[in-house]
Amino acid sequence: IAAEALAGYEGPATTRDGHAVQVLANVQDGAGARAAVAAHAEGVGLLRTELAFLGHADEPSVEEQAKGYAEVFEAFAGRKVVLRTLDAGSDKPLAFATLPDEANPALGVRGLRIARQDDGILERQLDAVAQAARETASTPWVMAPMVATEAEAADFAARVRGRGLVPGVMIEVPSAALLAGRLLDHVDFLSIGTNDLSQYTLAADRLSADLADLTDPWQPALLELVRITAEAGQRKGKPVGVCGEAAADPLLAIVLVGLGITSLSCAASAVPAVGARLGTVDLATCRAAAAAALAAADPQEARSAVRELLDAG
Ligand code: PEP
Ligand code: MG
Repeated sequence: IAAEALAGYEGPATTRDGHAVQVLANVQDGAGARAAVAAHAEGVGLLRTELAFLGHADEPSVEEQAKGYAEVFEAFAGRKVVLRTLDAGSDKPLAFATLPDEANPALGVRGLRIARQDDGILERQLDAVAQAARETASTPWVMAPMVATEAEAADFAARVRGRGLVPGVMIEVPSAALLAGRLLDHVDFLSIGTNDLSQYTLAADRLSADLADLTDPWQPALLELVRITAEAGQRKGKPVGVCGEAAADPLLAIVLVGLGITSLSCAASAVPAVGARLGTVDLATCRAAAAAALAAADPQEARSAVRELLDAG
């Protein structure tokens, strides 16, 4: 992509033939949200609420949480903001919400699972989100991380709807991708976290440099789970986004849109490149790229097949 195209990107993103794709930003606080506005993100696709509290020994009060969330809602007033409830545990340990001494923290009590024994932290966080929403007259979308079953999605949806907010779940576990259609009977949207979905699909630690070839988001098995999830969304008429690192790769963004993904959320710094790249291809080309990537034997072959297809077009 030429430098002029990047500098000129102002969103909202569409394919060359006008198919709208929301290009959103992953942020962790108000400052990040304001930077995302400057990068022409259409909204926030992933507010990682736990990151602001990583150094905290104690659970932040409802007031303190509400203040932080309100800053993000204000930065994108009238636009889409997707807030994720605390994803504590494993690679994001929170002193006040993580069990000590788990043998396998990535397979342990993390994400939504912290509500199993005691749902107080989740309830207070949702109260804080609702308070911030009232104070800023906004209607944030709220999603849970590490959902694995339909019952978890149903339980979370009830808590969120009860507060007048819009419920969704992340697709980070293969069981959730396989049941995407059933999860959508309970929630209004899905967001695929490709970082964890890769880790759990390929059974390879997302932090292991030695296994980076396995957690590559171009792995055909990962793309197949994205396809299943996006198709469920199309069947039910509900949005399905991608908010993992995969969404920051402009070439892969073309494939994801071809698979039926309706929004992409990435680091603010990657927003212009992704948005501008999508503007260079038609939706039919995205679909052809998706088919080529799915059919490839491995990530390298997938990348070169898509590059060749785009060069030929
Ligand atoms: C993901 O798992 O892809 C994701 C977006 O969440 P995180 O990276 O914060 O686990
Ligand atoms: Mg994750």
